[in-house]
Amino acid sequence: MKLIDIHSHLNFPDFDSDREEVIQKLKKEGIATITVGTNLQTSREAVALAERYEHLWATVGIHPHEASETYDSVELLELTKHPKTVAIGECGLDYFKLADESLKHKQKELFLAQIEIARQVGKPLMLHIREAYEKVLAILEQNKDIKAHAHFFAGDWEVAKKFLALGHTLSVTGVITFTTDYDEVIKNIPLDRLMIETDAPYVAPVPYRGKRCEPAYVKYVAKRIAEIKGLTFNEVAQVTSQNTKRVFNLQNQTFNVWF
Ligand SMILES: [Zn+2]
Repeated sequence: MKLIDIHSHLNFPDFDSDREEVIQKLKKEGIATITVGTNLQTSREAVALAERYEHLWATVGIHPHEASETYDSVELLELTKHPKTVAIGECGLDYFKLADESLKHKQKELFLAQIEIARQVGKPLMLHIREAYEKVLAILEQNKDIKAHAHFFAGDWEVAKKFLALGHTLSVTGVITFTTDYDEVIKNIPLDRLMIETDAPYVAPVPYRGKRCEPAYVKYVAKRIAEIKGLTFNEVAQVTSQNTKRVFNLQNQTFNVWF
């Protein structure tokens, strides 16, 4: 089995007690993952993990939830240049339960700053978007030179079409194993624009629903996509891995050893 979970947080404290074990198990199963940073500290940890393991990559960035915090922009930029850093993020806009207009403004400033970094270092964005799809699309429309990937896609087909028209890619999580709400959009997204993820430690798929999620469970996401699209598991595994290689530019030795 060769799969890539494009968005997980092995850097989070949820894995402090058994991180090494989880990472070794992944390797044994032939699963790679991109460890995602959400602030300077978790970005640092993501890069440190990616340095230690050939089947891990990192993203570096500041989550919109952290828009009120300050961070060392020089160190952040340095981390984005690391050869195993494959994207800037997770970054974007999160308007869920957000009434404060000044926070929306801060989120936008933070997002725009990260778009500038993406441009400077020539890497794609790992987007986090909640209840702000149209706002993010309007910003991407003005930055057409930037490649972006929308993680945890929860929009409908109308929204998906707009991302696809701009040349971007989308991924879905274990949520698709316990609801049919996304069947239509998954059916419609061309396989060469789709990737798979767990967002571990969150949203574990069936049969682990409610438990801590691990990147290894990405196989259940792939299996469900195969079912919905009427494809084989291997087709989904192969094409989503190729998409990951293409979009996140995984051209190093690691990818060749693994895929
Ligand atoms: Zn995440």
